Amino acid sequence: MKQRIEDLKQSFQTEIEKIEQTKDLEQLRVKYLGKKSPIQALMQDLRTCTPEERPEMGKLINNLKQDVSTQIDTHFQALEAKELLSRLSQENVDVTLPGRRKFLGKKHPLSQMLDEVIEILIGMGFSVQESPEIESEYYNYGGLNYPPDHPARDMQDTFYITPDILLRSHTTSIQQHMMENATPPIRILSPGKCYRNETITARSHVFFHQVDVLYIDKDVTFSDLLATKEEFYTKVFNQKIELRVRPSYFPFVEPGMEVDIKCTACAGSGCVLCKHTGWLEVAGAGMVHPNVLKAGGVDPEVYSGYAWGGGIERLFMLRHGISDIRLFTENDVRFLSQFA
Ligand SMILES: [Zn+2]
Repeated sequence: MKQRIEDLKQSFQTEIEKIEQTKDLEQLRVKYLGKKSPIQALMQDLRTCTPEERPEMGKLINNLKQDVSTQIDTHFQALEAKELLSRLSQENVDVTLPGRRKFLGKKHPLSQMLDEVIEILIGMGFSVQESPEIESEYYNYGGLNYPPDHPARDMQDTFYITPDILLRSHTTSIQQHMMENATPPIRILSPGKCYRNETITARSHVFFHQVDVLYIDKDVTFSDLLATKEEFYTKVFNQKIELRVRPSYFPFVEPGMEVDIKCTACAGSGCVLCKHTGWLEVAGAGMVHPNVLKAGGVDPEVYSGYAWGGGIERLFMLRHGISDIRLFTENDVRFLSQFA
């Protein structure tokens, strides 16, 4: 039996050395370690040995089995690596080349700014409400106290789809929707895209983003408006902000005003960003016009409210000292990735 074991060892050695493909190696594994293998036969024949011989023979057979198994595994790994390399070389792949870097997409700067503004306003007690981008003339103009002959209604400024349907020119179009569907207190912000038929320049675009804020309740005052705005801009610019208001005309507010903040770049001493005025124009604002409240079924004798709105592009441009609004839509990754 000892001789049989030795012979088997020899024949296995001769065979494995000739093998150059993994599939042949699998056949060899079945041949030497399978159920009908000569090693299995040896195990069977252990019965014919004398009890004295049996432990030694058993040990020899086990060693052989172990040795065959280890050799096959080692050889298999070596062949597999070799086969992979030869396959890759046929595919003309240079495995020594460094891999291509993958870039993860990021949120567009305007989406980031919009998210931030929404988060700040939610923190101040406002809830998000959205209105349609395709809007009726009534919600965009008529219900907001625009006289029928107001120049803003002109084809120059508004994209009309039909004489009565248009692309909203401001998110203020939310106001009558809100008053129709809710009773005061109403405390909302309305974010979204707006469209105006203007020539595209560094300072204006045919579409832009706005956030409008509306608060209607009993005893809402002008100082509530100023305090809210001051806190909002302090949070946006992450520094103490000084406000200035200038009288202005918007049909849906009375009094109406332009809101400026002291220049965040030069603290009011004058620079390129503020065009040497020391102030930055950030929003239009005012107390909701009694006619607007009446149109929405809200009694102006009982309730009052404030409204203000501003552009998201403008806010972002002021905060980062960007001078051309077109950069947001040109999709130049070199620009966009700076704000990732
Ligand atoms: Zn300045």
